[in-house]
Amino acid sequence: MKKRIAILGSTGSIGTQALEVVRENPDRFEVEVLTAYNNVELLSTQAKEFHPNTVVIANESKYDELCAALGDLPVKIYAGNEAVSQIVEMDTIDIVLTAMVGYSGLLPTINAIKSGKTIALANKETLVVAGEIIQKLALQHKVSIYPVDSEHSAIFQCLVGEGQNAIEKIILTASGGPFRGKNLDFLKSATKENALKHPNWDMGAKITIDSATMMNKGLEAIEARWLFGLNPNQIEVVVHPQSIVHSAVQFQDGSMKAQMGLPDMKLPILYALGFPDRIKTNFPRFSFWDYPELTFEKPDLKSFKNLALAFDAMDKCGNMPCILNAANEIAVEAFLKDKIGFCEMTDVIEQSMQKIAYIKHPELDDLIKTDKETREFSKIIINKK
Ligand code: MN
Repeated sequence: MKKRIAILGSTGSIGTQALEVVRENPDRFEVEVLTAYNNVELLSTQAKEFHPNTVVIANESKYDELCAALGDLPVKIYAGNEAVSQIVEMDTIDIVLTAMVGYSGLLPTINAIKSGKTIALANKETLVVAGEIIQKLALQHKVSIYPVDSEHSAIFQCLVGEGQNAIEKIILTASGGPFRGKNLDFLKSATKENALKHPNWDMGAKITIDSATMMNKGLEAIEARWLFGLNPNQIEVVVHPQSIVHSAVQFQDGSMKAQMGLPDMKLPILYALGFPDRIKTNFPRFSFWDYPELTFEKPDLKSFKNLALAFDAMDKCGNMPCILNAANEIAVEAFLKDKIGFCEMTDVIEQSMQKIAYIKHPELDDLIKTDKETREFSKIIINKK
């Protein structure tokens, strides 16, 4: 039986690589649904190649353009965020790959869990914003969430076969991004062009900026907390510039398992979609002879304050990670539009965390409200700059 997949965010970096994985394994996977935010041209090209049952464009103003591009192809076409959220309920879907950017992943993921779909989670912001709610729902609906994020896939792979063996701690590795080793003075004048040049991973703009500020590792720590049921003090970040050790788990006997490989997102995508099978590939293999030195450093929390803010938000819990995430999304967007400088992103997040009302035990509605309020507040700070 082929696994039938819905790819939310099919035109992004993870989405397009997931489709490569499907193309290389036509006997295993079948595309049932594709959704995109804006990119009609690529979405229609994908639909013509993979023949999904349904496509959805989130931006409603692009509906007519999409219909015209798909011509008489036998495919159902919908538009709007509501449609993206609802389409995951289709009973012909086995796995939902959540690969959209940011907060937009939250409601579709909740709906997919409620309708019992296996989740391949590439949208870390969903767990950052509402990890506790998502984990409760997944338990209640007996749904598995397989991580696609490379670090979390590494940890997940280390845990296979460990049954109930308790985790002592996990070690999340971080490349350090393009500004590793730079001090605050340098970072104050860091440009968008340089921030977008990631040394090891080829990713979308939002996550690449998050890597440059190291916010990405902070979001991943919160993501890991919920995925693996950890306390914040069980999560350690280690900078590993070569991105070969993708993360590690230390068990109660002191033994540590790590997962290694070349940095290629197709590997964790394939593992999440194919689990529990390892599927044969022709990807380039890692060789120790190409990497005579693998190095490890402590993260610099004084220069990369976003990472410290994320750990702070994780400690405070409640709606604080939601505030952190919303402020960060607005700050990154403003940085990409040249409205604020690199270090001013930190100011926006820090001020939001101080000003937005803290809620210790938020319901989903509280988080939706917190997200909206934080975005409005962040935009006001940015406009004053
Ligand atoms: Mn990652």
